[in-house]
Amino acid sequence: METKKKNENIKCSVAQCKHNMVTENYCSLDCICVGTHEANPSVPECTDCFSFVKRSGETPAQG
Ligand code: SF4
Repeated sequence: METKKKNENIKCSVAQCKHNMVTENYCSLDCICVGTHEANPSVPECTDCFSFVKRSGETPAQG
């Protein structure tokens, strides 16, 4: 089991991401990669955290 450490430089409220602290709105990664899915981004909603990884506990175990 990995031990997560809060990165006070990266605030994030995406609790569905396995890198999120959940108990606090912070990311646990040392750095993240942010990008966009738009050809010409104009608002915050156009940007994405490419370091997002879905929390595994939310899907039923397979096999
Ligand atoms: S990897 Fe991205 S989405 Fe996941 S907790 Fe960190 S900042 Fe949030």
